[in-house]
Amino acid sequence: MSVRVVARLRPLLENELEKDTIVEAVAASADSGADPTIVRIPNPKNEAEAYSFVFNSVYDQQTTQQQIFDHEIAPTVKHLFKGFDVTIFAYGVTGTGKTHTMKGGKALADRGVIPRLLSAVYRRSRKVEKDTEGNTQVEVTMSYYEIYCDKVFDLFDDKRSPAGLPIRDNGGKTVVVGLTEKPCATLKEFEQLYDQANLNRSTSATKLNASSSRSHAVLCVKVVQTTGDHVKISTASAIDLAGSEDNRRTENGKERMVESASINKSLFVLAQCVEAISKKQSRIPYRESKMTRILSLGQNDGFTVMILNLAPVRSYHLDTLSSLNFANRTKKIEVNEVENKPFFRPGSKQEKAATVSSLQAPAVNRQPLR
Ligand code: ADP
Ligand code: MG
Repeated sequence: MSVRVVARLRPLLENELEKDTIVEAVAASADSGADPTIVRIPNPKNEAEAYSFVFNSVYDQQTTQQQIFDHEIAPTVKHLFKGFDVTIFAYGVTGTGKTHTMKGGKALADRGVIPRLLSAVYRRSRKVEKDTEGNTQVEVTMSYYEIYCDKVFDLFDDKRSPAGLPIRDNGGKTVVVGLTEKPCATLKEFEQLYDQANLNRSTSATKLNASSSRSHAVLCVKVVQTTGDHVKISTASAIDLAGSEDNRRTENGKERMVESASINKSLFVLAQCVEAISKKQSRIPYRESKMTRILSLGQNDGFTVMILNLAPVRSYHLDTLSSLNFANRTKKIEVNEVENKPFFRPGSKQEKAATVSSLQAPAVNRQPLR
């Protein structure tokens, strides 16, 4: 199992101002051709300090949908056809671009990871069939569900029960019992089914008093390659996660508390799984939340890509920092130019306090990053 964690900064929206941009994508080396791998953000308690978080890649505001797909997703399609599972997560606060990244807009250039992935899957299916002179047949089916308050709801089922679908262990693999699987032989067929199911998502949201940002939407695309008696099955899962904002800060209702408790728990377990996989640990705590359990995260030789969506503006400062802390606990602290440091009269109370707190600060890297 391998995992990539990448960050994507969205552009400013119409009502956001240039001067409020506080998050930067930075390259680790000064070479002009070097791609960014660092997200830099000020310490909200002391703007003279900045935190730097290192990722496998960082995509800045100008990055197109095509670039995200080409760099992060296209390389996984080959593995999918070799029989490995592929899992793609969009993680982030509501309003940072998760749905834009995964689903995207209608215009060709705006299409997100999901329609591009499907398009690549169909292209490769035709190639496999052609290369084997028809000896291998490829079938594609999809299922689409959401996980809300730790319950699984089939997005193809209009009359779903409030209890959700049961999940069961089936020879070591976790399966959702009674989930609809729809065959989709072409991109057009896929898109029709996908759009129809997405409608179900928003109408059911009002029924459940949930908004889409409070559930995880999981799309599973199963690729079945049959050559005579030999069948190779692999699944690509694309997940638009629930918003990672701390709901407790703004909402105190009981229902909201239940929601945020289950969102927080599943995102927490997801983070632990991603960290365990990236550190090649043998124990991956995937059984500890329904989402990671259904996806069997870490239990096979698959590939996982987590896209951390970020809004670069000040109004998201604390939420952005907590997203970054979630995705990457090995941040570095650097100090900005001396001029920006608060100045305290020598011997004053403030100066002493500042000295003490810097002595107590955890191990920091004070080498400025370039
Ligand atoms: P989320 O799903 O995380 O709540 P959305 O995908 O709905 O966030 O994005 C919030 C807003 O920002 C939307 O209006 C969306 O069109 C816009 N947006 C997000 N990312 C981009 C991007 N890379 N380019 C252009 N607009 C974007
Ligand atoms: Mg969304």
